[in-house]
Amino acid sequence: MTASIIDGKAFAAGLRARVAEHAAAFEQAAGRKAGLAVVLVGEDPASKVYVASKGKATIECGMNSFEHRLPEDASQEALLALVDQLNADPAVDGILVQLPLPKHLDEQAVVARISPDKDVDGLTPISTGRLALGLPGLVPCTPLGSLMLLKDRLGDLSGKDAVVIGRSILVGKPMAQLLLAENCTVTIAHSRTRDLPDVVRRADIVVAAVGRPEMIKGDWIKPGATVIDVGINRLAPAEGQAKGRLVGDVDYAEALQVAGAVTPVPGGVGPMTIAVLLRNALVAAHRNAGVALAEGAL
Ligand code: NDP
Repeated sequence: MTASIIDGKAFAAGLRARVAEHAAAFEQAAGRKAGLAVVLVGEDPASKVYVASKGKATIECGMNSFEHRLPEDASQEALLALVDQLNADPAVDGILVQLPLPKHLDEQAVVARISPDKDVDGLTPISTGRLALGLPGLVPCTPLGSLMLLKDRLGDLSGKDAVVIGRSILVGKPMAQLLLAENCTVTIAHSRTRDLPDVVRRADIVVAAVGRPEMIKGDWIKPGATVIDVGINRLAPAEGQAKGRLVGDVDYAEALQVAGAVTPVPGGVGPMTIAVLLRNALVAAHRNAGVALAEGAL
C-alpha cells in the first residue's frame, strides 16, 4: 500500500486565496484594511527571513503589514512599551512578536502583554485558557493548520484515537486541545513516555512535533493511519552540498508504505503556518471592528 500525500502547499494556497477574498470584503465593510504588526528584536538571520516572508504574505492578501524593529540590546521596558502602543492602535488587528527573543528579555512577560484580541499567535495565557475552556479565541497557527489538514482529509474526527508526540506550548499542547475539542481520544506523548512505538501504534491519527529527524518509523504506524509531521529538521549536508536536506520527525519513505495519508516535509504543515497566521489576523480584524464573518468561512 502507498499512502496518499497530503498537499499542505495546495491547501495553504487555497486558504490564502480565501483570506484575500475576505480581506477585500472586510475593507469594504470596515472602511479600512485589516492590519498585522510584526515585532522583530535583534538580528537573528532565521527570524529576519520569517518576518520578511510574513510581511510579504500579509500585503499579498490585501492587509496592511506593520514591521517594527528593535535593536538586539533593546530593554524589556522598550519592548513592552511597543506592545502597549500596538495594543492601543486601532489600525493593528494582530500582533506577532517574533520568537525567540534575545536572552536578556523575559519572553513570557512580553507575550502576556499582547492583547488577547490581537494575539494572532495564540500564545497568551488568556488565549491558552480560552482554548482549554472551549471559548472562542485565537489558536496557535501550526496546530490549527494541522487540524485543518486532518479535517480536510478525514471529515469528522469524532471517536478517533489520536496520539500527539510532543507537549510544547507552541504545538503539542494546543494540538491535543484541538483534537479533544473534535472528540478524539487523545494521548500526549513526550520524552518520558514509555514504549512510544506501542503508544503510536494505537493511533488512527499521529501528530509528530518532536524535533528529531525521522524518529517515527514505519513499523510504529497503524496501517491506514493519518500522519501529520510537524517536524522540520535540517540534516548535515552530504559531501559537496552546501545545505543538508530538510526532513520531518517521521521516516517519510517508511510511513508511505504503511499510513493511509501522510504530510511531506517540506510541503506539508510548513506552508500552513503562515496561511493560518493571515487567517487569524483577519478573524481578529472582524472581531475587533465588529464586522460579521460567517462561521467556518476561513
Ligand atoms: P519543542 O522542542 O518545544 O518540543 C519538543 C517535544 O518533543 C517536547 O515535548 C519533548 O518532550 C518531545 N520529545 C523530545 N524528544 C522526544 C523523544 N525522544 N520521544 C518523545 N518525545 C520527545 O519543539 P516544538 O514543539 O516547538 O517543535 C517540534 C518540531 O516542530 C520541531 O522540529 C520544529 O522545528 C517544528 N515546528 C514546525 C513548525 C511549522 O511551521 N511546520 C512550527 C513550529 C515547530 P519533553 O517535553 O518531555 O521534553
